Amino acid sequence: MQPFEYVRATDPAAGVAAAAALAGSRYLAGGTNLVDLMKEEVERPPRVVDITRLPLRQVQRTRGGLSLGALLTNTETANHPLVRENYPLLSQAIVAGASGQLRNMATNGGNLLQRTRCNYFYDLATPCNKRQPGSGCAARDGRNRIHAVLGWSEACVATYPGDMANALYALDAAVRVRTPAGAERLIPVTELHRLPGDTPQRDTTLEPGELILGIELPVAAAAFARHAHYLKVRDRASYAFAMVSVAAALELDGQRIRQARVVLGSVAHKPWRSAVAEAALVGQSVGEAAFRQAGQLALQDARPLAHNGYKVELGRRAVERALMRAARLA
Ligand code: SF4
Repeated sequence: MQPFEYVRATDPAAGVAAAAALAGSRYLAGGTNLVDLMKEEVERPPRVVDITRLPLRQVQRTRGGLSLGALLTNTETANHPLVRENYPLLSQAIVAGASGQLRNMATNGGNLLQRTRCNYFYDLATPCNKRQPGSGCAARDGRNRIHAVLGWSEACVATYPGDMANALYALDAAVRVRTPAGAERLIPVTELHRLPGDTPQRDTTLEPGELILGIELPVAAAAFARHAHYLKVRDRASYAFAMVSVAAALELDGQRIRQARVVLGSVAHKPWRSAVAEAALVGQSVGEAAFRQAGQLALQDARPLAHNGYKVELGRRAVERALMRAARLA
């Protein structure tokens, strides 16, 4: 591991100032991704700003909904009664991720910012535009079974691997951020992650030094509490990243769909919310026909690589299955 400077932040302003003052600094919270990356020398920050003592662990009802601190652990978030009652999709998605031990350490902010699990990203002997811009992409013509089928570019075909963010996309959450200028801004979570384009080294729209303070869940998203399901398809039953995952949510008026949410995970460089599938579901009756069509629409723009064509049909069926379960028909 490369030597680095360690700074412990005493308040958010001091933490942001310390990170913004030295390019390439990283925030340390649960450390479940960053420390691995540093040990492998994929990440070599000159300064690590420890934010674990900051007061960002609240679960608070607000006029707009529910505010979750960035430093709440994934376990604390998934188990909280207000989350389970109003946003069960979020609890389901978190529990589908990682292992119990990791969820006890991982924080909400860090979970959102976890980096891809592309094997070549971790292998310093291979070219990788995300790790070393301009070096090439070993996965494009390499083994790309776990890679993207939507939204990829010639520069990078990696996927975003998380589960929690998929649910937050479906729930129209927002991320509250502190900027180096001392201001706070709200970013709709759907605008937090980026597609790779020509700059895959940038995973998110955060500016250097910006610190995630918390996640805001809108009260309106509680309308999905009764009909939501998180489906994760993976190589083994637990402690594995998804091949494809789906966050599905419905608001029903009897058997009629009033609102729908369809978000696919592990198919693109960011959670993939399908506006076309959601729009097609509105006004329809719940059932296989509507849900199958939603699956077809959600994958209609898929461009599989050499080894991941299976994700297209798997994605279609996973959307159908997740919606069936959300509607309690399966
Ligand atoms: Fe690197 Fe992205 Fe290519 Fe993987 S897919 S090798 S992360 S550039």
